Amino acid sequence: MDHFLYHNGVLHAEDVPLSEIAEAVGTPFYCYSTATLSRHFRLFDEALAGMDHLVCYAMKAASNQAILKTLAGLGAGMDVVSGGEYARARAAGVPGERIVFSGVGKTRDEMRMALIGGIRQFNVESEPEMAVLNAVALELGLRAPITIRVNPDVDAKTHAKIATGKSENKFGIPIARAREVYAQAAALPGLEVIGIDVHIGSQLTELAPFRLAYEKVAELTQVLRADGHDIRRLDLGGGLGIPYTRSNEAPPLPTEYGALIREVLGHLGCEIEIEPGRLIAGNAGILVARVIYVKSGEGRDFLILDAAMNDLIRPAMYDAHHDIVPLHEATPGVEQRPYDVVGPVCESGDTFAKGRMLPPLAEGDLVAFRSAGAYGAVMSSEYNTRPLVPEVLVHGRDFAVIRGRPTFDEMINRDTIPEWL
Ligand SMILES: *Cc1c(COP(=O)(O)O)cnc(C)c1O
Repeated sequence: MDHFLYHNGVLHAEDVPLSEIAEAVGTPFYCYSTATLSRHFRLFDEALAGMDHLVCYAMKAASNQAILKTLAGLGAGMDVVSGGEYARARAAGVPGERIVFSGVGKTRDEMRMALIGGIRQFNVESEPEMAVLNAVALELGLRAPITIRVNPDVDAKTHAKIATGKSENKFGIPIARAREVYAQAAALPGLEVIGIDVHIGSQLTELAPFRLAYEKVAELTQVLRADGHDIRRLDLGGGLGIPYTRSNEAPPLPTEYGALIREVLGHLGCEIEIEPGRLIAGNAGILVARVIYVKSGEGRDFLILDAAMNDLIRPAMYDAHHDIVPLHEATPGVEQRPYDVVGPVCESGDTFAKGRMLPPLAEGDLVAFRSAGAYGAVMSSEYNTRPLVPEVLVHGRDFAVIRGRPTFDEMINRDTIPEWL
């Protein structure tokens, strides 16, 4: 459930008509609902109630300071994957002891930054990384708390570009080698081994792959404990999928996911961490765009919008489906017609949908892409020198621009011309 509903024929974000925001901010823009963000965070938090746990929001999904502050205020930790994200989390007021650091390519500078600033744990992904982190921690006279990310070789049954738990993926160490790698880690004085980490992919629409992976983690916990490691924290990653269409998709609910965790891992007495990103932010955000032209082509009509692939790359990158709805509700009974929905960028890949059935639309009409809150604004670029789309946060009857649209001068003046020119 989200808080983007029609009232009096106009799509609202909570209590604000989106047409009002369009008028104030211009199009395109991203709009997030505080109530939806909060609701989704609480669903996870409550799903793990009774177990010692921390929900670490995977901020790569949507990392605006206002979104981070909203979630941090509810008690969320953060999963970061770069020094920039670490800095963002800290700037939003998240204490170091609530930040976990994931990613296969952490640099010495990033490690130093997190060790000095405070960190809950590093999720280490390889032996070379382990050696470097050990050295960096010793230089600083510190010990780095770590889990080691294991690759359970489980098929997440999701899009190939976001599957991370198969042996051919770059992530984690093969679970078969875990004992050996944990023994190496335990021998390094700059590291403190505290647990196990696993993350098998994103947009999972079934629980079965989670079960397979978590069963392997449960078994590994026992094995490593028998080897003398104090395994007391399990980071189970993110990945729970969301419905991108209103019709037939029904991914598992956080409560069902929480019940699975309790069933498979509850008896181990470990502190549980999860790192959901998409499920918290995805349906808490939409992208609003305006129709520039309706162009008749060979046997098809193109709906040319002022939003493009640089603003929302998911259709081009993952063949993703986003529901598109008019901001002004269509008259009941009006016949829908097929449109190829495209942006103005000079690439054929700049296509959001083909043959999408929509009520008749005309120049100037407003539409919204649903479920655009995760991996939307964060993946946008200024390709074609198109300004980054502004972000707006709604809270009840209030809305605020949480990232403004840059002017052309601001964009141009980021370049510098060498003195010889
Ligand atoms: C991307 C990622 C997540 C979040 O995945 P979602 O599908 O957005 O929940 C969590 N943990 C790690 C390590 C990731 O790379």
